[in-house]
Order: sequence, then structure tokens, then C-alpha cells
Amino acid sequence: MQYDHILIRYGEMSLKGKNIKQFIIKLQENLQQKIKEFPNVKVTRTQGRMFVLLNGHDPEPVMEKCKKVFGIQSLSLAIKVDNDIEQIKEAALFALQNAKDVKTFKVAVKRINKNFPIHTNELNQVLGAHLLTNTDGITVDVHNPDVEVKVEIRLEAAYITSKAVLGLGGLPVGTSGKSLLLLSGGIDSPVAGFLAMKRGVHLEAIHFHSPPYTSERAKQKVIDLSKQLTKYAKSIKIHIVPFTKLQQEIFREMPESYAMTIMRRMMFRIAEQVSRNESILSLTTGENLGQVASQTMESMHAINNVTNYPIIRPLVAMDKQEVIDISKQIGTYETSILPYEDCCTIFVPKAPKTKPRLDKVSYYESTYDFTKSIEEAIAGIETIVAHDRKDADEGFSGLF
Ligand code: ATP
Ligand code: MG
Repeated sequence: MQYDHILIRYGEMSLKGKNIKQFIIKLQENLQQKIKEFPNVKVTRTQGRMFVLLNGHDPEPVMEKCKKVFGIQSLSLAIKVDNDIEQIKEAALFALQNAKDVKTFKVAVKRINKNFPIHTNELNQVLGAHLLTNTDGITVDVHNPDVEVKVEIRLEAAYITSKAVLGLGGLPVGTSGKSLLLLSGGIDSPVAGFLAMKRGVHLEAIHFHSPPYTSERAKQKVIDLSKQLTKYAKSIKIHIVPFTKLQQEIFREMPESYAMTIMRRMMFRIAEQVSRNESILSLTTGENLGQVASQTMESMHAINNVTNYPIIRPLVAMDKQEVIDISKQIGTYETSILPYEDCCTIFVPKAPKTKPRLDKVSYYESTYDFTKSIEEAIAGIETIVAHDRKDADEGFSGLF
């Protein structure tokens, strides 16, 4: 006997009607996409449940992939048997014996198929007795068991599971439209991207790159971070913007104390333009209130003024340590702390305004025409698609 299915439980109780249908279809599609490297492994669904059919494949690597798909509350390895009491007993015993570090258990029967001859309470007792007789040193604890052997008697078959592993929750990627993530090489923006994806957002990324002040390795770092984020999605298209000329112009033509604010405004202007070209309806950033000079309330006000696009800031109310913890969990931390320079750390004014004024910044910008440089930066965008596979990244340059 062996585990032949993974049972997928999904939540989002708030979804109804058409939305829940869209949620389920997308979840199935995303799961299927994530496991396509395993031959013969398939995703199926019945009323209220989704199953991954292992077809003889080792469950662990498949489980690892499934755990990173948004929209899942919990997952369990499962055995499917006929609605036959002897087969159910055997499977329940297998499930208990294969759970690690178990001293106590409980059987929980769910009898959806009302034609099954043994009623729920009786079945709980029959199975409990069978498990006690055939194991050593394990006892029943109905209140706080180490493992719950769950038996679901459905119309087509019975499914037996033991430990449930928590999923990531959230909504399936692709159910909430597209957002353009402003991705630096730092700790925060990849975490912001992860959290936006958790709410079902399909991400594209934009990175502002200033060669030769920033190196190829700094650019590679952003590609690597995007690739790490694709563990939770199918792929991420990255728009790499040549930002050197515009940055030099800002620092040459604008008062130094306002250069950072103006640089951020340029980033938003360009990001909005790229969004328009890609039919994206929002921007996402790793901004966090009050952390650094560019992220005070006054700064956000002055910077935000250049766009009407909604800006998703998943980290706005988090503490730095919470952000670091997530970045460690999702696997971006080690890359983020690599020391390669970022365009914003190279061009840093000695004394940036922490409370820039919108009227002043608008006035300064009106004294110089940046249009041509903005257009050039957009025309020079290089586009790369990061995938969740080694050797699969495509690079292509130029216009969209
Ligand atoms: P991060 O850890 O994401 O770099 P941070 O705390 O260092 O964030 P800032 O450097 O002020 O904060 O940047 C604020 C946000 O602006 C970033 O989270 C990111 O979304 C965006 N950003 C900054 N630099 C770049 C860049 N070079 N390319 C794209 N987006 C950027
Ligand atoms: Mg940064």
C-alpha cells in the first residue's frame, strides 16, 4: 500500500458564485502547471475538493511544489480505496503507521455517501479498534491527538488521510489581475511581490538599472530574485530600464536635496507608462512608512502625485523584522543581502529632504524638460522572462 493522492483543501469562504468557480479553475490550472515536470501526475476535482493523482510518483517532491501554490488552505497525502470496510481498515492503518512521532490518534469519519452500510459513529469505533489492535504504544486521544486519521466516504470511493500540512492560503495567482512590481535588489520589494501574489495578483517586474554605476551582477541579482518569486507563480516578465542618463540629468539639473524625490517620481512615471503598454492596472512597491527618508508621509505624498494608478504597498504597516522573517521563509533573503550596489544607493544626495513639498518639486521639474530622456529610457527597456526552471529564461531586448 502507498499514498496515491494529495488531497487539496481550499478556503476563501468569502467567495461565492462565479468567483468561486473562477478560483477553482485557476487553482487547478496553477497546480497542473507547477507539477507538469512530473510525468503522469494529474490534478482532478470533485465537489469541494481537489486531488493530485500521483500515478506511482514519489509524493514528497510533488507535495513540495503544491505547497507553494497560493489558494490552498491545507494538503494531505491520501489513499483512495473502494468503499469496502476491509480496504478502508488497511488504509487507515497504513496512514497511522506512516505518520511520524505519533503517540496518540483519533479517527474522524465523514460519511458523504449515505448508502455506505456502516454509520459514522460505528465506523469511528470499528476503525479505532482496528488501529489500536494493530499498533504498539499508541493510544486514542479524542481532544488533542498527535494525528487525526481522516476517512472520507464519498460516492465514488473512500479517501484516507493523516497529517495535514498548512498551505499558503491566499488566492490563486491570476485571479486578481496584473500589477507591476518595482523591484530593487533589496529585502523589501521581493517580499512585497510575494504578498501581492498571495492575493491572486499576476506580477510583472520593473527594475531601474544604472550602468556602469551599477554592475551586471546587480542586474543578475534582480533576475535571480524574480526567479525565486516564480516558485509561487508560473513566470515573471522583468522590464529592465536603463536609468543612468536620467539619473545624471536629475543630479545635474535639480537641487540636490530634491534629487531623490524627483528620481522616485521618474520611476513611477516610467512604471506607469510600462503598465499602460502591458495592460497592467496597478503598481506594487516595497515602501514602508517611516523607514527611510524617501518613505515619510510627505515623501509618499510628493512622489505619488505623478500617477493615478493604484499603488499596492503590502509592507506599509510592517516592522522590518517581520519583513526579514518573510524574506527568509520565501527564500529571497540570501540573495537580497548580497552587497551589489543599487541605483538608489549610488546616487544618494548628502542631505535628502525628508519632508519634500509638492509645490516645490513641481516647480523644480517645470524648469527642465526631461521628456526626451524619459522616452529614451522607455525605448531602451530590455525584457527578460524568468521561469521556475533552470535553463529556461528567455532574454529579448528592445521595445515591448
Ligand atoms: P527595498 O528593500 O525593496 O530596496 P528599501 O527599504 O531599500 O526597499 P527604498 O530603496 O527607499 O526602500 O525603495 C523603496 C521602493 O522603491 C522599493 O521597495 C522598490 O519597490 C522601489 N525601488 C527602489 N529602487 C528601485 C530600483 N532600482 N528599481 C525598481 N524599483 C526600485
Ligand atoms: Mg532599496
